[in-house]
Amino acid sequence: MAIAGKDELMQRLIAEIDNCRKCRLWRSAKKSVPGEGDLQAILMLIGEAPGYWEDAEGKPFIGAAGRLLDRILTENRLERKEIYITNIVKHRPPMNRVPRADEVEACTPYLERQIEIVKPRLIVTLGVQPTRYILSKMKIKFKNISEVRGRFYDGELKGIQVKVMPTLHPAAALYNPEYKTTIEKDVEKLRRKLP
Ligand code: SF4
Repeated sequence: MAIAGKDELMQRLIAEIDNCRKCRLWRSAKKSVPGEGDLQAILMLIGEAPGYWEDAEGKPFIGAAGRLLDRILTENRLERKEIYITNIVKHRPPMNRVPRADEVEACTPYLERQIEIVKPRLIVTLGVQPTRYILSKMKIKFKNISEVRGRFYDGELKGIQVKVMPTLHPAAALYNPEYKTTIEKDVEKLRRKLP
């Protein structure tokens, strides 16, 4: 797919997300948060849902958890501008609650189209919800995040061969140094898989 083609497809998708009314989440949200980054990225990061700051600005991972994630990435010579980053739902759930199953079902076709457009070789799922969703699409059993985090799973998503590595959500690490160390270790492993 040509670069211009990707850009156009993503712009169309973003416009659809902006106008989407397929689940209840748009009602309480200020802005949609479709995702952003390099459309040629090798690496895609998938989180759970926008939070307060993301909802206010329409950009993913810009609050405290996003800043922590940025720091861990930078320490591993990974720049946000080289990555594509998004969430499984594109509007903020009220009070940052976990997205409900029907909301995930309504919204994830957008994520699948983002995967088709970007065609990442590596996907990192951040936290339980995106991990459950992506592993189920790859027909991999998911019981809990501690069993799967830091491991690489090969499979196919939307006809694209990918390696998926789950890790913890950076929000969980904000007040827990142990979780932060866990994410750091996982990102170090990820770095070794990248050129
Ligand atoms: S969360 Fe997703 S499915 Fe729900 S209204 Fe927003 S874009 Fe549409």
